[in-house]
Amino acid sequence: MRIDRLDVYYVAMPLIYPWRTAYGEDRDIHSVLVKLTSGEWEAWSESTPFFAPTYLTESAGSAFYHVTEVFGPHVVGREYDTAADLNARLDVFKGNSFAKAAIEIGWWTLESKISGTPLHRLLGGQTREVIAGADFGIQDSFDMLLGNIQQAVDAGFPRIKLKVARGWDLDMLQVVRQTFPDFTFHIDCNSGYTLADLPFFKAIDGLGLAFIEQPLHFADVLDHAELARQLETPICLDETIVSVRAAQQAIQVGACQYINIKPGRIGGLSNALAVHDLARDAGIPVWIGGMLESAVGSAICVELATLDNFTYPGDLFPSSRFYTRDLAEPHLEFSPGNVFQPFTGDLPVPDPELLEECTLRQQSVVPAT
Ligand code: MG
Repeated sequence: MRIDRLDVYYVAMPLIYPWRTAYGEDRDIHSVLVKLTSGEWEAWSESTPFFAPTYLTESAGSAFYHVTEVFGPHVVGREYDTAADLNARLDVFKGNSFAKAAIEIGWWTLESKISGTPLHRLLGGQTREVIAGADFGIQDSFDMLLGNIQQAVDAGFPRIKLKVARGWDLDMLQVVRQTFPDFTFHIDCNSGYTLADLPFFKAIDGLGLAFIEQPLHFADVLDHAELARQLETPICLDETIVSVRAAQQAIQVGACQYINIKPGRIGGLSNALAVHDLARDAGIPVWIGGMLESAVGSAICVELATLDNFTYPGDLFPSSRFYTRDLAEPHLEFSPGNVFQPFTGDLPVPDPELLEECTLRQQSVVPAT
């Protein structure tokens, strides 16, 4: 297919309540939406690195800049038979996975539309339900957290993820484990600790957590390998896996027993598939993560999570969990049992009015004349 044009939107989507993690608080989610055009066909992608480089080194601002000023002009006006061809064209640029993903994911959604193949089938997934877990950021009090956990348990969620940060860690986890002795929990540290915190990790090692997600520095596989050797509890990597190469090296040095896959963080869907396969071949289960995207981005996560090695319940949410009104339609909604069905028809697309309301910057990229 030829990519004729990119229409790029930098949006800020107000959350119902702030999202608090080890790296800070977001009151709205800053995201980059791209409409790709090929002849008469149009399709959308989304990449969501947040407002500031707090999750990783990119931000929505840097992704918008790179898509509109650098990567976009380099890719429009050319034919790409495969997503690999597009990635090869983008290979000259280092890093910036979220920005690359904003374009690469669009190749897949366009191809899905042009070929009339549901995206999950195009990716090699099955038309099957995708199981979601529950996920709680840092709360105002233990009581609030325990109440929320009880609700999630009552609602039948299969596992709960708890964000931890200094001051919201050991005591909180002990109280939670005491109150819910048998339930499946894992924690997400969002790179908030170092190997000097080994006593903390030893203290929680007996709590029977499913795994500890991204405990240490985002770019450090060696320290994660060392921590994995010291603990019974498995380690899961999220922020560290920014590329296929990063996944290869993490697996090679024994830095993780689980991998979280986010298509944006990993540079798009082709890389996500490659990491899925690498992990499967190494006996490492993967699970899908999200960045609180609109339904455009979260639907793509659902499609990807239909692949066979996505065995741990994903971080996938109905639109109403975070947004008064998701800017894309159809909104993401649970089927009974807290599961999502992949899309067999059209994927969600932005509602034009809401998109305009949320857009802070807009720029289009067409071939130079
Ligand atoms: Mg994480």
